[in-house]
Amino acid sequence: MSAGRYAPSPSGDLHFGNLRTAMLAWLFARQSGRKFYLRVEDIDSERSSAESAERQIEDLTSLGLDFDPPVVYQSARGALYEAALSRLPVYECYCTRRDIREAAGAPHIQPGMYPGTCRNLTEKQRETQRFQLTAEGRLPALRLRAAVPEWSVRDYYRGTYTGPVDDVVLKRGGNLNQAQAGDWAYNLAVVVDDGEFLVDQVVRGDDLLDSAPAQAYIASLLGYAEPEYVHVPLVVNTSGKRLAKRDGAVTLRQMGLDVAWEELARSVGCAGVRSAGELLEVFDPLRLQRDPWVWGLSG
Ligand code: GLU
Repeated sequence: MSAGRYAPSPSGDLHFGNLRTAMLAWLFARQSGRKFYLRVEDIDSERSSAESAERQIEDLTSLGLDFDPPVVYQSARGALYEAALSRLPVYECYCTRRDIREAAGAPHIQPGMYPGTCRNLTEKQRETQRFQLTAEGRLPALRLRAAVPEWSVRDYYRGTYTGPVDDVVLKRGGNLNQAQAGDWAYNLAVVVDDGEFLVDQVVRGDDLLDSAPAQAYIASLLGYAEPEYVHVPLVVNTSGKRLAKRDGAVTLRQMGLDVAWEELARSVGCAGVRSAGELLEVFDPLRLQRDPWVWGLSG
């Protein structure tokens, strides 16, 4: 059984860009006869709230998007992530963000990539680092020991996309005192959840395209089928920056359903359509504009 999904982080109301991506994910799944799941990506306990998740679900439902049960909450799935982690090659990383920033300045390091500081430490060096970390009340992070420099994925709009596979964090460090569930990293959780729910179509914003090679590689290591990706253009403001709450009345509750429908339908090339059911009939993925959609240029 094949499936698609929408996987918001519950850290506030969805804005127009999120709603548009959700609608596109729903359209792609339902037009191809797939199941469609909602997954609440609430592993970051500091930024997530149950209330926010509820409001997001209400908003998506009021747009007419329907989900197959169950709604998945990542915060309840630590045991699965633990089991997956135990099957992956990992190493402890003792770096702070600042360590990484400073080491990443070296000329041979690709921007945004982990500089490899902790990859090849001896056991003795690890003991010293662990000792120091414990004294600071911190726990090491666990990173993937990637065995390939890059990986290729299939993307509906981009074709074959090849990108670097970094030694991504699979479990975050954190404080010794607060050691608890909630330290799972996005790149592990997303792969396990898509894999367990047989998600074979991942529709999401194209800001996440760069993370797809590492995720597909992790999926292959865990024996999950690699999904097809559909990275859709983001919504930007008139300055070309990714849409944000400060750009005005951008949430469904601020816009109201009528305005939301007008803008959503127009932004996917179906001006005048007023319901999810109707959109399902007329939406043509090949006619979706490939450039970012600019919010605030109505008319
Ligand atoms: N939770 C992520 C976000 O809200 C999306 C992750 C994904 O779709 O893979 O940006």
